[in-house]
Amino acid sequence: MTLITCTKNKTQPQHLAQSSNLDSPPSSIQSQEKILTGDRATGALHLGHYVGSLQQRVQLQHQYQQTILVADMQGLTDNGHNPGKVSSNILNVVADYLAVGIDPNLTTICLQSAVPALAELSMYYANLVSISRLERNPTVKSEIQSKAFGRSIPAGFLTYPISQAADITAFGATLIPVGDDQLPMIEQTNEIVRKVNGIAGTPILRECKPLLSHVSRLPSTDGKSKMSKSMGNAILLSASDKDIRQAVRAMYTDPNHLRVEDPGQVEGNVVFTYLDAFCTDKAYVEALKTQYRAGGLGDGKTKAILESCLQEVIRPIRDRREELMADKAQLVAILKAGTEKARDDSSDVLNNVKSAFGLNLF
Ligand code: ATP
Ligand code: MG
Repeated sequence: MTLITCTKNKTQPQHLAQSSNLDSPPSSIQSQEKILTGDRATGALHLGHYVGSLQQRVQLQHQYQQTILVADMQGLTDNGHNPGKVSSNILNVVADYLAVGIDPNLTTICLQSAVPALAELSMYYANLVSISRLERNPTVKSEIQSKAFGRSIPAGFLTYPISQAADITAFGATLIPVGDDQLPMIEQTNEIVRKVNGIAGTPILRECKPLLSHVSRLPSTDGKSKMSKSMGNAILLSASDKDIRQAVRAMYTDPNHLRVEDPGQVEGNVVFTYLDAFCTDKAYVEALKTQYRAGGLGDGKTKAILESCLQEVIRPIRDRREELMADKAQLVAILKAGTEKARDDSSDVLNNVKSAFGLNLF
């Protein structure tokens, strides 16, 4: 997908392809592969989601059957005492989806808590996974550390990879567009799939594989961690021009690049990481890098270029999002329709798994 073109003097306005055409007809999709992704309803979506997953989903919806889950139950796994954070963000996430071009006529957008098969499958799968295996999951391990749970890890948090396995398998998904932080979840899902198939004696569940995007982990503006909703280090897709300016001005660059004429380092310099991710004129970015490395290009200039670039990316999304948020009833209707379809789509898998455990008396 074309983002924007950064030109030497000024960024040319070039709007994103906003394909949220709610009336477009469903395409005739032939592929047997199915896509499942989702986002925790813990905040509005950010630039990390955009380059890490959303852009890819907008493309994939034309090629595959795609289901996107607003993961409200998973959002509760570290917000059990603050559920309002989750419930108040459900429509924010739906609006972000539609604003970037996810089309509910092509993609099933559903609410995790309103598809009971997902919770039911999680309970069956939980019997096949040991606590020590959950504790070994590298993503869960590092999240537990960063969230400073100490010894009070919520059981729901430790077991969320099981719930993700339920989400993926419930819809027969085989391709999962994710950031690289999610790769251990895919591995754990496939372990569960193999165990269930072993018990069933026949392959009732399908294994899945990840689809990594060109930017699988966008760093936060301070460069210290990945951009994340929960860490307050994100540039949102709904950010105002002022928010963008402030975030870019505070961005981490090369601490040893003190004067404009000093040679600077591009690697680990967040401004260049973002230019790589968001500026489509790659030759221009390469020329900037060469100049920065040689000396003679100030951080003020690179930040001004990036700011203009990000404003071009975000502005049309933000405008569309504002229109969508003005009609919340429509957002609820879209989510409800997708959720009803998701309930139908997941019922066969649940029945098959229950049967595998011999729990099909009636
Ligand atoms: P939270 O802080 O609540 O966990 P988050 O910002 O990490 O929120 P998630 O809802 O956990 O977002 O992630 C949803 C999807 O977006 C996942 O596939 C994840 O890999 C991807 N994603 C999230 N943050 C980034 C990022 N900084 N760069 C690339 N992809 C990302
Ligand atoms: Mg996360």
